[in-house]
Amino acid sequence: MEAKAVSALGIAGACSVSAEETEKWMEEAMNMAKEALENVEVPVGCLMVYNNEVVGKGRNEVNQTKNATRHAEMVAIDQVLDWCRRSGKSPSEVFEHTVLYVTVEPCIMCAAALRLMKIPLVVYGCQNERFGGCGSVLNIASAELPNTGRPFQCIPGYRAEEAVEMLKTFYKQENPNAPRSKVRKKECQKS
Ligand SMILES: [Zn+2]
Repeated sequence: MEAKAVSALGIAGACSVSAEETEKWMEEAMNMAKEALENVEVPVGCLMVYNNEVVGKGRNEVNQTKNATRHAEMVAIDQVLDWCRRSGKSPSEVFEHTVLYVTVEPCIMCAAALRLMKIPLVVYGCQNERFGGCGSVLNIASAELPNTGRPFQCIPGYRAEEAVEMLKTFYKQENPNAPRSKVRKKECQKS
């Protein structure tokens, strides 16, 4: 899919990304996803860009940290908060003008976190069929949730095939930290 210049207007003012920016940042996010895969983590990589500067980035590190919440987006959010502290900027000002570039559709948890941080725009690669929070399972991104931050706009499908290939490679291999539940076994027998 070709990247288009898209503006998220009407949500937190103006926030737009060019095709060149998308290409540049998504390339970096893809490299981080590859690194995650090499480290036996769910291959998701992401960057948060504010004023053309990377203010936070992350890859999934759930297995490494043995903490199920350490998705790439959560790692990146913490880095942006650190960046705000160091540069004396208010997080609300920064997040409201930050674009997230991520290789996979954010999950339900991360989509809710992005709403709470009031990130206006998310560019992502493939769909997250298991846990997606931008339409695949639930649409937290644009749901009417008056007490959960703000909705955000998505630009999906950038290098989606590559991103989904990485996910497939990951789920084919055995995850040494996965719990062996009955539900999981049933799923395996079906496929
Ligand atoms: Zn997530």
